[in-house]
Amino acid sequence: MEKEVKEIRVRFAPSPTGNLHLGGARTCLFNFLFARKNKGKFILRIEDTDQERSKPEFIEDIIENLKWLNLIWDEGPYFQSQRLEIYQYYLQKLIQEKKAYYCFCTPEELRAEREYQIQKGEPPKYSGKCRTISIEEAKKRIIKGEKAILRFKVPLGKIIKIKDLIKGEVKFKTDLIGDFSIAVIENKKIRPLYNFAVVVDDQEMKISHIIRGEDHLSNTPKQILLQKALKFKVPEFAHLPLILGPDKSKLSKRHGAVAIRNYKEEGYLPEAMINFLALLGWSSRDNREIFTLKELIENFSLENVQKSPAIFNPQKLDYINSIHIRRMPLDRLLEESMPFFIKAGFISCEIESETFPPAYGGQELFFKYKITTTGQPISYERLKRILSLYQERLKKLSELSELVDFFFKKPKLEVEKLVWKTSTPQETLKILEEEKKLFSQIEEKKWKEKALKETLLKYAEKIGDRGKVFWPPRVAVTGKEASAPFTEIAEILGKKETLERINRALNLLKKQLNG
Ligand code: GLU
Repeated sequence: MEKEVKEIRVRFAPSPTGNLHLGGARTCLFNFLFARKNKGKFILRIEDTDQERSKPEFIEDIIENLKWLNLIWDEGPYFQSQRLEIYQYYLQKLIQEKKAYYCFCTPEELRAEREYQIQKGEPPKYSGKCRTISIEEAKKRIIKGEKAILRFKVPLGKIIKIKDLIKGEVKFKTDLIGDFSIAVIENKKIRPLYNFAVVVDDQEMKISHIIRGEDHLSNTPKQILLQKALKFKVPEFAHLPLILGPDKSKLSKRHGAVAIRNYKEEGYLPEAMINFLALLGWSSRDNREIFTLKELIENFSLENVQKSPAIFNPQKLDYINSIHIRRMPLDRLLEESMPFFIKAGFISCEIESETFPPAYGGQELFFKYKITTTGQPISYERLKRILSLYQERLKKLSELSELVDFFFKKPKLEVEKLVWKTSTPQETLKILEEEKKLFSQIEEKKWKEKALKETLLKYAEKIGDRGKVFWPPRVAVTGKEASAPFTEIAEILGKKETLERINRALNLLKKQLNG
């Protein structure tokens, strides 16, 4: 007999009560990788039954950022808010089979009950007080306008065993669970609650593996009880380790940004985010650290997900980002950097036309921009050259605004900065005057890094101190104590602009020296 081949179907099921955060994105990534690795299907389901806390802007944020990360789903998004009839059908079934009942206890009563149990040293759980209310009586009370919830009758004396694919065997005693709520009755309508809606959807969507954060582990026995009561298939479970901050407490806003959108705005590349998120709980056998999404798919397995918590390390993210920046083709890096150039006010962009460049696999729509800087057109080539000077040094793209500003506006100059540490303003003036003369003699068409370097090296030999020679012109063109080398910058700026900037520096030095 042929063995039945089970189709792998996984889901990412965020509640849109906040922006997509690191933990959610990590869960999504692991589901995505598992599906791709096993030729399965990856489903997106938005768990928006809680209408008060769910917001359309969070749905938008989740979808937009998943797309940005390139975590594209095969099915969905399904919205739980549009599936209420399906849940109602199964809720009725449980009620009819007397596996669920209406509970009218008020929050005050429940609180008092809990406090009493805690005082007695017992683990708090619902007492089951409303179990004996008949359906007929319950309906009458609801019609009269009494508030009610539906509770699941948890069978006593059983042990629920989970063979978690990451954590191994985990056992729960049903005696400790207590009849938990599965729906609320609001304005005479039933609204399913999390544990119930999840179970119905996982069945309806034929989910084979539930991969989610460890914070859901305590929900799992409840969900298994519901699956059994409804005669559903129990899927496999894999609970991902918690993510902790560097101080080993649960990762939260205190540790810095947690929303994916903040990382995007800071100039982390989607490739780097994916790479970093994968290492939050997973590692390859050889402890390799740098992966593309394709390589992650090839290497991923749930077996290599750790049981112990993952520690969020922002320095590691910077490191991974810098590596992906270095590896990125300059064209793509420019595309990623454009929003940062625009935000810094260096350039303005108008869309001129749209094309599908073959360099990107023809996948994405690529806009051709008309780019200007202070009203003058500026070419892609020039922007790429500017970027190439910093590609090796960037940790994140937002750093560009401070690193390359001088290419787009004249730098602010200060005499103290212009003077090399072993030199004086007088000497700096003399040297810079001489350099101006030497640079003027270089022909326009020879205005290249190489010729400039030769000129400076020759002069430095004469002066006997490289710092005194190389420092002032670099500060004159950048205004900065640290930057790419003068020769490379000057080549991009061009002869006229370089000499103009050196003149500015000379004038400043003269002004200072003449009091
Ligand atoms: N909606 C739940 C959440 O956002 C996840 C549900 C699940 O994965 O079972 O935490």
